[in-house]
Amino acid sequence: MKKTILITGASSGFGRETARLFHEKDWNVIATMRSPEKETELSALSGILLLKLDVTNKDSIALAVKQGIEKFGGIDVLVNNAGHGTLGALEAASEEHIKAQFEVNFFGLIEVTKAVLPNMRERRSGLIINVSSVGGRLTFPFSTLYHATKFAVEGLTESMQYELNPLGIHLKLVEPGGYKTAFTGRSMNYFGTSDLKDYQVPFERFMAKLEEWPLSENISEVADVIFEAATDGTEKLRYPVGHDAAQMIEMRKGLDDIEFKRNMVIQTGI
Ligand code: NAP
Repeated sequence: MKKTILITGASSGFGRETARLFHEKDWNVIATMRSPEKETELSALSGILLLKLDVTNKDSIALAVKQGIEKFGGIDVLVNNAGHGTLGALEAASEEHIKAQFEVNFFGLIEVTKAVLPNMRERRSGLIINVSSVGGRLTFPFSTLYHATKFAVEGLTESMQYELNPLGIHLKLVEPGGYKTAFTGRSMNYFGTSDLKDYQVPFERFMAKLEEWPLSENISEVADVIFEAATDGTEKLRYPVGHDAAQMIEMRKGLDDIEFKRNMVIQTGI
């Protein structure tokens, strides 16, 4: 029997690529996004159910999950992918920036998960794949809020295993490194340093280093790893992906906190 996957944030980047790949692999795909009326690529593929879902809107989550289950009979795999980033000095972040970062990357992920769980519990089967980041395992400067949300996703996911594994539901974390998607463009909120001069020089130095960061254009790698996580049948929890991810995570493991911090300061030139 065909399996069914629900993906959040499928309007671009990893989400769209993942929808395309699972469709190619003959899965039922529920591709959810904030503005399905604007979608042109996935809507051209027959058999993909495009639904409106804003992870910050509970009614839209409930409706999309209901429509998806009505259409395909259940949800086998949930991919919590929707997310955005923030860059700047924490002191310069407005309450709005702080809340928005958590509303999407963390509380939104929880709401979608809670909406899908009753169906998975009833069937005593299911897999939840949370798209975290290499930034859920280690930190860069001036990215405090983003890291806080991704570290939270890592802790939440790891701990949920204890209560869900006995019910036949499994969890995975996909941890991409740097990829050239809309994430570094329209999905990034820059609040900079406001007028706080103390942060300006290191922030500018960090931003200059970030410009040089070799972002991979091969975003299908991430979809491939999500497919592997969805189908390998193992209890493996973490899937780093990307030319830089495994290397950075290994480096972090090999250094103590002080060494890692010193190394990051040198590497970023701040
Ligand atoms: P992307 O192309 O910008 O995709 C982000 C997606 O999230 C878009 O579809 C966006 O929808 C959606 N989204 C934002 N707010 C939403 C909301 N309130 N409700 C529903 N969807 C919402 O970037 P991406 O790189 O594919 O990012 C996907 C995930 O990968 C994110 O969780 C990100 O943190 C993570 N990640 C990315 C990188 C990277 O280097 N690219 C590295 C590590 C982790 P709209 O089109 O409506 O804005």
